[in-house]
Amino acid sequence: MDVADVSGVPLWVTEHLREEGIESLYPPQAAAVEAGVADGDSIVASIPTASGKTLIAQLAMLSAVDRGGKALYIVPLRALASEKREEFAAFEAYDVSVGVATGNYEDSGEWLAGKDVIVATSEKVDSLVRNGAPWVDDLDCVVSDEVHLVDDPNRGPTLEVTIAKLRRINPNLQVVALSATVGNAGEMAGWLDAELVDSSWRPIELKTGVQYGQALHFGDGSQRELRVGSNEKPTEAIVRDTLAEDGSTLVFVNSRRNAEGAAKRLANTSRDGLDDDERRQLADLAEEIRGVSDTETSEDLAACVHKGAAFHHAGCSSDHRSIIEDAFRDRLIKVVAATPTLAAGVNTPSRRVVVRDWRRYSGDAGGMKPLSVLEVHQMMGRAGRPGRDPYGEALLLAKSHDELDELLDRYVWADPEPVESKLAREPSMRTHLLATVASGFADSRAALLEFLDQTLYASQYRHGPDGGEDNLERVVDATLAYLETNDFIDRGETVEATNLGHTVSRLYLDPMSAAEIIDGFEDATTPTVLGLYHLVSRTPDMYELYLRSGDREEYTMLAYERESEFLGSMPSEFEEERFEDWLSAMKTARMLEDWASELDEDEIAERYGVGPGDIRGKVDTAEWLLGAAESLAGELGLESVGAIRNARKRVQHGVGEELIDLAGVRGVGRKRARRLYDAGVETRADLREADKAVVLGALRGRAKTAENVLEAAGHRDPDMDDVTPDATAVPDTGADGESTESTESGGSGGEAALDGQDQSNLGDF
Ligand code: ADP
Repeated sequence: MDVADVSGVPLWVTEHLREEGIESLYPPQAAAVEAGVADGDSIVASIPTASGKTLIAQLAMLSAVDRGGKALYIVPLRALASEKREEFAAFEAYDVSVGVATGNYEDSGEWLAGKDVIVATSEKVDSLVRNGAPWVDDLDCVVSDEVHLVDDPNRGPTLEVTIAKLRRINPNLQVVALSATVGNAGEMAGWLDAELVDSSWRPIELKTGVQYGQALHFGDGSQRELRVGSNEKPTEAIVRDTLAEDGSTLVFVNSRRNAEGAAKRLANTSRDGLDDDERRQLADLAEEIRGVSDTETSEDLAACVHKGAAFHHAGCSSDHRSIIEDAFRDRLIKVVAATPTLAAGVNTPSRRVVVRDWRRYSGDAGGMKPLSVLEVHQMMGRAGRPGRDPYGEALLLAKSHDELDELLDRYVWADPEPVESKLAREPSMRTHLLATVASGFADSRAALLEFLDQTLYASQYRHGPDGGEDNLERVVDATLAYLETNDFIDRGETVEATNLGHTVSRLYLDPMSAAEIIDGFEDATTPTVLGLYHLVSRTPDMYELYLRSGDREEYTMLAYERESEFLGSMPSEFEEERFEDWLSAMKTARMLEDWASELDEDEIAERYGVGPGDIRGKVDTAEWLLGAAESLAGELGLESVGAIRNARKRVQHGVGEELIDLAGVRGVGRKRARRLYDAGVETRADLREADKAVVLGALRGRAKTAENVLEAAGHRDPDMDDVTPDATAVPDTGADGESTESTESGGSGGEAALDGQDQSNLGDF
């Protein structure tokens, strides 16, 4: 189908697409048009990665806007919101305004009322609906990208409930649900009253298989020799082989640390395949990367890029990520080792894809768990650059003949799993029922049931196969009883949220976390930092650290030693499960306490067996939960508010109490704060008036850093030209790396915490 033949979209779209090199629609796109996507009809498009889903969304949104309407594009990850925004920015030349809803969860986003197209994550949309953003009533078209994520236990329910709410607010809403190929797309279409576009068409052939021994074994039965040298790893051999054909390789691994490790190793392979011109360009690119920030990650990344390799994960800054994505698309970077965030929607095709790790650590399982077929297929789908490669190849790696057979069965020949609603999970039901009542969306049991009947959960599970018990009623009744017992709702003729219930919903807390915190406050007149960290660590909103062998004894002893600090009473050792949980929270709290006592990140990583990303994740979540605890204590009029704030600030900056003020200055961070303090600059006010030579000495002669810090503190004359460092202020330790310093404050509350969850759900931790 020629793009000019699409009825419903404005003329300029055709021109614009031609300029982008798009003349005719791909078959699944044509099928979507035939199903009415440009005429306001709802569709579920279940089609492979890289087969042009974005254009389907654009046709729907732009035709809706052309009819005078307003469209919303729901993205699964915050990182993708800015990417889509940039992509849609091209429409502004044609008078289609685009806005991204980000930032504070409590922001009602009124400024978005004037935008034609709005991009937001499902969490953001959920909060906008909760806070009654007025423009939500004006939506005509909503696109849900990667809608198969409704299957995700942590984030899926929010997406599901959000879509149901939007459809209820706007009964004629066009829903365009874009999904990877899943096992039950028809069921999804039934839920959304949408037409199904189900296709396995791809713009370029994809061969999938398994590397084992000295060959690639493809799913179609064909084989190809690939020599693995005696001192070579299989991934290195594949990268070398791909380079010999002038192709690039994308390697998926299961953690940030592994991504960095793999990139460092593979850089030695990619280095051998570069010509002089590429070497020069890569040297420039490495400089550009160093220019983004002066952290250790930045330095490591630059060193890899210098040799034609890179890593990509959610811990990289967004500037770094887009530099890498662009250079990989331009074929300057030959190999990227990535966590699965890159499989989620970022357009980075590659000649070959290697899914190196097909298991990843799962908190719920307490060990390594195989990835789903859907996830592996999503990664594999990144192989093959249309117009550049004759075909794409995607490979798993086997170490034994048995594993070869297993991987072919498990992934290469397997169909993706069906998507299943996770809304009935207790934390989700508690959270969403309370939010639905608090926002006035439903004010009785009957109204709640009527609303929830529009969810995927109800369409899949409300009635068992024999019609029997009403599962929805059972779950709703149990949850309402829980919320009432804990004073979050009042039930009489109607169901209403209490003041406390409103606060909990606004804070985006699992009501059970709020109940645990409030319970803990009972005997907390002067809580200690450890007591507070333990309290928030044992809520369901914190993923606790796991106990390793030997930990049990250590933390049992510690728990008795510091029993008086706990808020709430310690369970007996005979209540095994609760006691175990208490000790895990103890370990987590202890790690937070170490962090807030300025212990080195490396040492913490070593002591608790975690990576820097894990520390950051726990710290962000703790900061958010303590902020919520502060609000709850305020709501209840408790004296402990000050102590909670203190504990929050200490964990936020990773510093002792005396450094809170100083560490809050932009660019200072925990280590620099300590050095300044030791040199006699103890507060923000001191810094504003400080002797520049002392500051420069304390910051080890780094003039640019010193200038930035003084400027942030409001110093009259931050200029460091001609200043010589005061020798007495220079810290004498010297050994610990300035580069490991984290100057970022770690994000803002709930959003940061939710983002952390985004990542772990996509295997990026
Ligand atoms: P998906 O979201 O399905 O993974 P995208 O929408 O990102 O895939 O599309 C992948 C690539 O294909 C993009 O670079 C896009 O510009 C290109 N593309 C999409 N539709 C067409 C078309 N009809 N003709 C040519 N290229 C297309």
